[in-house]
Amino acid sequence: MKPLFFRFLLPLLLLSIPLEAAPSVSNPVVSAYFSPNGGCTDAIVGALYAAKSTVLVQAYSFTSAPIAKALVEAHKRHVDVQVILDKSQKSERYSSATFLANEGIPTYIDAAHKIAHNKVMVIDGQTVITGSFNFTKAADSGNAENLLVINNAPELAARYAQNWKEHLGHSEAYQARN
Ligand SMILES: [Zn+2]
Repeated sequence: MKPLFFRFLLPLLLLSIPLEAAPSVSNPVVSAYFSPNGGCTDAIVGALYAAKSTVLVQAYSFTSAPIAKALVEAHKRHVDVQVILDKSQKSERYSSATFLANEGIPTYIDAAHKIAHNKVMVIDGQTVITGSFNFTKAADSGNAENLLVINNAPELAARYAQNWKEHLGHSEAYQARN
């Protein structure tokens, strides 16, 4: 009779090796928010205040003062913030495009589509924020919208960052003006 080690423990050890050698897979943590009055803006602002290195934004309509301020605050902390907006934001009299560009945030207009309708933020290559929620006061206080905040999701964040870069490729820098 073989010693206990060879009969039971060694096979168990061998079985456990492939599991331990498998590449680590991230476990995304997902939070859902709904408007009106469901904390969408607060969730976005909170995520922006926690940003450490990069924030990539794609937005259709962007008029939310709290979100714009949180982006500027991140920019001032030397977080690399870059924003792509729909062409409709160019024609608004004093739009968030003007505000962000005047604050020194690289801001671009994507005019290559009928509408650039994405509402996305990619934070620190780890977090994706997306949904129907526009970065506007109306979306927070009046509209029926949804928002997902997906944390600890580097693979997903990389896909969204890649898509962001593809749109950047045909976008034009928005010039700050007073
Ligand atoms: Zn585009």
